Amino acid sequence: MSDTNSKKIIIAIDGFSSCGKSTFAKAIAARLGYIFIDTGAMYRAVTLYALDHGAIRSGIVDEEAVVRLLGEIAITFRFNPERGASDIYVNGDLAEGRIRTIEVSNCVSRVSAIPEVRRKLVAMQQEMGRRRGVVMDGRDIGTVVFPDAELKIFMTADPAVRARRRYDELRAKGDAVSLEEIERNVRERDRADMSRAVSPLRQAEDAIVLDNSHMSVEEQMTWFLREYERVLAAR
Ligand code: C5P
Repeated sequence: MSDTNSKKIIIAIDGFSSCGKSTFAKAIAARLGYIFIDTGAMYRAVTLYALDHGAIRSGIVDEEAVVRLLGEIAITFRFNPERGASDIYVNGDLAEGRIRTIEVSNCVSRVSAIPEVRRKLVAMQQEMGRRRGVVMDGRDIGTVVFPDAELKIFMTADPAVRARRRYDELRAKGDAVSLEEIERNVRERDRADMSRAVSPLRQAEDAIVLDNSHMSVEEQMTWFLREYERVLAAR
């Protein structure tokens, strides 16, 4: 391992749906020159593929059919300088725009509870972080994917604030969703993510909590840099 890499750490960011984990993780990665990995996008990509290939019909997830499809799904990332983050591709096709629809959001928690799906994606995530220097956001990064991450952050925010943020984001893209529908989805995903049998969403014992209900992006960055310096000083 090179000297530069030996100084790099893994930053694990877990937490509830729509509390700005990706925005926060992306900003941190840009600031530190680290690689940002959005693991939610990977679960969404599998869900999209399952929808496109008949393994989910009328909102009903056929788990065995999803598992059968797994072997033919190749997920890759390619850096997009315009977004300052990597776009996700499924079997070579750009999937970034299509993975964030409400249709995918409504099914993703059921797909992500399938043990075989988790096994495949967790192995990929561990490989991507092998050389450290990554900021990874998800639900089980500090507990399962990288239990040895040097800095673990557990993000949370008021559910109404989170629903409003996701609503503004989707409306800005032209999606005709209602605030009620988004709020229902956010609460339902929290419930499903916390109660599933495999790798449920929970705060790692050594994670520090960031409640950003009333914090600006700048305030979150100031908070983060203080914690980051503290971790480096302790090494
Ligand atoms: O982060 P995002 O809201 O895009 O994640 C979508 C869904 O993917 C979550 O609601 C959760 O069901 C699943 N997920 C997961 N484990 C991760 C990341 C996401 O189960 N590490």
